[in-house]
Amino acid sequence: MSLSDRYSTILDKCVGSLATWKNFINENMEGSDKDTQMAKLQQIAEEYCLIDENHKRSENAIKSVDEAITNPLENYSIDELYNKKLEEQPNNDPTTNEIWEQLFNNNASIQEIIPKKKKDKTQYEAVDDSLLCSSSFTAPVDPITKTIIRKPIRNKKCKHVYDNQSIYDYIRQSKNKAKCPYMGCKNNKLVVGDLQEDAQLEEKITQYLQSQANEEDSEDDDDSD
Ligand SMILES: [Zn+2]
Repeated sequence: MSLSDRYSTILDKCVGSLATWKNFINENMEGSDKDTQMAKLQQIAEEYCLIDENHKRSENAIKSVDEAITNPLENYSIDELYNKKLEEQPNNDPTTNEIWEQLFNNNASIQEIIPKKKKDKTQYEAVDDSLLCSSSFTAPVDPITKTIIRKPIRNKKCKHVYDNQSIYDYIRQSKNKAKCPYMGCKNNKLVVGDLQEDAQLEEKITQYLQSQANEEDSEDDDDSD
């Protein structure tokens, strides 16, 4: 796994947990508690955006240094060149970063694409548990809906996994201009031909959700309604 792949995977997990946090706040809190938590969430999201902006600036600076070194015989001062190129990079407002976009500006369109399912206890518990216990299998989260993938579809090119429904909806909506929705993924051409079902992973997810549901049942037996 290359460094940039690892970076984008980590970034995506971070954004995923921020999205989970945001959903949790929206569904379970109200009043001043909600405002306080939301303010904290925004503060952390802003820090993530800054980290990502800095990462992009240095990446672009390295690229321009690379382009500037045209004569192999000349003696370049790489450090100086890099610092100069870095200063030339724009300092963007963190709220223009795609992390911010995904978390705070994009929600309406996401919910339009995927009809909101009836509130599913199992699904909620599953997301929660996957964040808390890292030892066992963690069900993958779809990059578009930020919910647990039920029917996994894997991209042969970049190996990313999506949910069956959301990825085909996404491709249809993007009208042949789809790129891999994992943030930072370099795969800019997402085509149906690259997608294939991942039966093995699906089996794991099914087992995982089943075990979650069973736990839920045994808990329900204790307190009778
Ligand atoms: Zn990808």
